[in-house]
Amino acid sequence: MARGLLLGGVIGTGVKIRRSSPQQERERHTGYDTANYNGNAFKAYWAVVRAPSALSAIKFIVKRGFGPRFFLPDALFPTFTMIQITLPDSSKREYPQAVTVAEVAASIGTGLAKAALGGKVDGKLVDTSYLVEKDSAVAIVTAKDAEGLELIRHSAAHLLAYAVKELFPEVQVTIGPVIENGFFYDFSYKRPFTPEDLVAIEKRMAALAAKDEPVTRRVLPRDEAVAHFKAIGENYKAEIIASIPVNEDVSLYREGAFEDLCRGPHVPSTGKLKFFKLMKVAGAYWRGDHRNEMLQRIYGTAWATKDELQQYLTMLEEADKRDHRKLGKELDLFHIDDHSPGLVFWHPKGWTVWQGVEQYMRKVYRDNGYQEVKGPQLLDKTLWEKTGHWDKYRDNMFTTESEKRDFALKPMNCPGHILIFKQGIKSYRDLPLRYGEFGQCHRNEPTGGLHGIMRVRGFTQDDGHIFCTEAQILKECVDYTTLLQKVYADFGFKNIIYKVATRPEARIGSDESWDRAEHALIESLRASGCEFEISPGEGAFYGPKIEYTLKDAIGRQWQCGTIQVDFSMPERLDAEYVGEDGARHRPVMLHRAIVGSLERFIGILIEEHAGALPTWLAPAQVSVLNITDSQADYARGVAKTLQNQGLRVNLDLRNEKITYKIREHALQKLPYILVVGDKEMAAGAVSVRARGNKDLGAMSLEAFAQQIALDVAQKV
Ligand SMILES: [Zn+2]
Ligand SMILES: [Zn+2]
Repeated sequence: MARGLLLGGVIGTGVKIRRSSPQQERERHTGYDTANYNGNAFKAYWAVVRAPSALSAIKFIVKRGFGPRFFLPDALFPTFTMIQITLPDSSKREYPQAVTVAEVAASIGTGLAKAALGGKVDGKLVDTSYLVEKDSAVAIVTAKDAEGLELIRHSAAHLLAYAVKELFPEVQVTIGPVIENGFFYDFSYKRPFTPEDLVAIEKRMAALAAKDEPVTRRVLPRDEAVAHFKAIGENYKAEIIASIPVNEDVSLYREGAFEDLCRGPHVPSTGKLKFFKLMKVAGAYWRGDHRNEMLQRIYGTAWATKDELQQYLTMLEEADKRDHRKLGKELDLFHIDDHSPGLVFWHPKGWTVWQGVEQYMRKVYRDNGYQEVKGPQLLDKTLWEKTGHWDKYRDNMFTTESEKRDFALKPMNCPGHILIFKQGIKSYRDLPLRYGEFGQCHRNEPTGGLHGIMRVRGFTQDDGHIFCTEAQILKECVDYTTLLQKVYADFGFKNIIYKVATRPEARIGSDESWDRAEHALIESLRASGCEFEISPGEGAFYGPKIEYTLKDAIGRQWQCGTIQVDFSMPERLDAEYVGEDGARHRPVMLHRAIVGSLERFIGILIEEHAGALPTWLAPAQVSVLNITDSQADYARGVAKTLQNQGLRVNLDLRNEKITYKIREHALQKLPYILVVGDKEMAAGAVSVRARGNKDLGAMSLEAFAQQIALDVAQKV
C-alpha cells in the first residue's frame, strides 16, 4: 500500500457530494488540474468528506460563512494509509481512505456512476455500497456485464416478492433464485396465483421500480435474524436461516417496506429494474420434496435493455412454434404416457429418426477406433458403493431387490465399461482403448422437472470411454474435438461454444496430473483452432473437462458434448494395465459423449429444424401421390424404385382430390412430394414439390432419384 501523510488542505464551501466525480469536485474546489490527481489538496478534501468528525467541522464552518479557502487544523488529519485500486484496464487510482464501489465509479465518471449496478472487488461480486478497505482490483459492474444482468435478475426476484407482499400481505416468502433468462420466487399462499394476479403483480413491480427506492443492506447475528423473521410471520425464512451455522451473521436487504434474507449483492435501487416481465405460475414443493407443502412459484424474465427483453419474448414465441412436444404429436413421432413418467414411447416415425441418429453415431464409433460394447441395465449395489453413487446419488437411482440383493438401474455407463476393461490383462500396447455404447440410463428425476423428451428419466447416450495414459490425453482430445465438429456440422449445427472447466478446490489427484490434464484439454482446443472460455474451478472433483455447447437456429444454447478426464474411477474400481516397465499402472479414463442423450438431441433437432428434418433424417423422405386410379400402377413402380434405392417412401393411392392429398402430406413436412398424372406416366416422369411448397416441375424419375441421393449424401 502507498502510504500518505495528510497535512491539511484547501477546500471550498461547496462540499456536499460524494457521488459525483471527485476529479470534477477537486477542480471545482481547488482549481487543480486532473493531472495532479494525487495532489495533497485532493487527498485532504477526500479525507474531510469521508471522516465524520471532519465533516461536521466543515458543516459548522460552512454555516458560519467562512470564505471559500481555508486551512483545517492538522490534528484532524492523522497519518493514514492510501488505498490503491487497480481498474480492469490496469490503470491505478489512489484514494486516501476506504472507498465504496459507488465512489470509485463516481471518480471515473458520472455516466459510470449512474450505470453502476455493483462491483467486482478482487473477483468477488459486491454491492455498490461495498467499502474497499485495502488495495484491490476493482471493476464496476453495469448492465452490459453478465454479472450485471445477474444482479438485475436477482434483484427483480426481490422486487417480485416485494410486490406480492404488498398485494397479498398474508403470503409467506421463501426463496427466489436467478435462473436462465430470469428468475423465480416461491411463495406460500392458500391458493395458486391466477393470470390476473400476475398482471396486477407485474404492474405493482413497475410502480415500485418507478419509485426508485434504495436497496440497503444490514447484518444480523443468525439467531436475531431467526427471531426477526419469526416475529413478522415469515416462518420459511426463519427455517432457512436456522439452517445456517449458529455463529454466522446473515445479511438482510431492504427496499421500501420489504426486507429479505439474502447474501446479495443487489442493484443499488429499484429504479435500476426496468425491463422485466412475469411469465407464468407453477406449483413447487418446499425444498423440492413432494412430502412438503406445495408452494406457488412465479417465473419472470428480466433484461438490461428493452430490445433484449423484446428479442427474448420473440424468441419464446418462435420456440413455442417449434416446441418438440407439440411437433412430436403433430408429426406422430412419440408420446409420453402417464404409465411411465419421463420415459418415451417412440412411434414408428419417431423411432425411424432415433435409428437414423443411432446408426449415424454407430458409424462414427466404427470409423474412429471405438469398439461398441453393451453393459447390463441392472447392477449390484456394491458396485455403486465403490463408485460413490450409492452414497451421493442414491435418491436419483431406481433400485430393486432380488434374493436379498439390492440392485440399481444404471444412471451411467462408465462402471460397466471398467468391468469390461478389467476382463483379461491389458497392456500398454492396448492403449488407448476406446469403448463406445448406446448406453441406456435411468435417473430418478422429480416429475416436476421433466420436459418432453428433453428432460427425461430414461435416455440413451452415445457414451464412450477411452482408457489411456496421461501422455495420450492430448491426442485423444484433439481427435475427439475434430470428430465432434464434424458430427455437429452433419446435423446442421455450425455454432459451437467451447468451455474448459478446471480444477475445483475439492479434488483428488496430484497437482502435476491436473496440470497435465488441463494442459491437454486446452491444447486440444488450440490445436483444433477453437476459441474457448475457461471456467476456473468448475471441473469435477475427479478431473477437468471440456463442455461443448451448440447454438440453435433461434439462439438458444444446448450443452451436448463433453470430454472429461477422470483420475478417480479407474482407482475406485481397480482398473490397471501392465506398462512398458512390466509394472502395473492405472489408466486415465476419458468420459466422452458427442450428442449426449439421444432423446434430448432429437428434441433439439426437431426444434432446430421446426420439425422439417433434413432429408437424410426425415422419417419419410418422399411421398408418391397419384391423381387418378389410372396411374396407380405407375405410382407403385415409382415408389418401388425409390425404396430400392434405400429411401423411405410413402405411397398414397387414396381416391381423394390431389390438392387434398398434397396438403395432407405437406403438413407432415416431408422433404419431397411426387405427383403423377397421365402426363408424367407417359413421359416416365414425376412432378416434384420440395418442402415449403416449392414447385420444381416435372423431371425424369432418374433425375429425381439422383437429386434426392445427393441430398442424403450431403446431409441437407
Ligand atoms: Zn437477494
Ligand atoms: Zn463415463
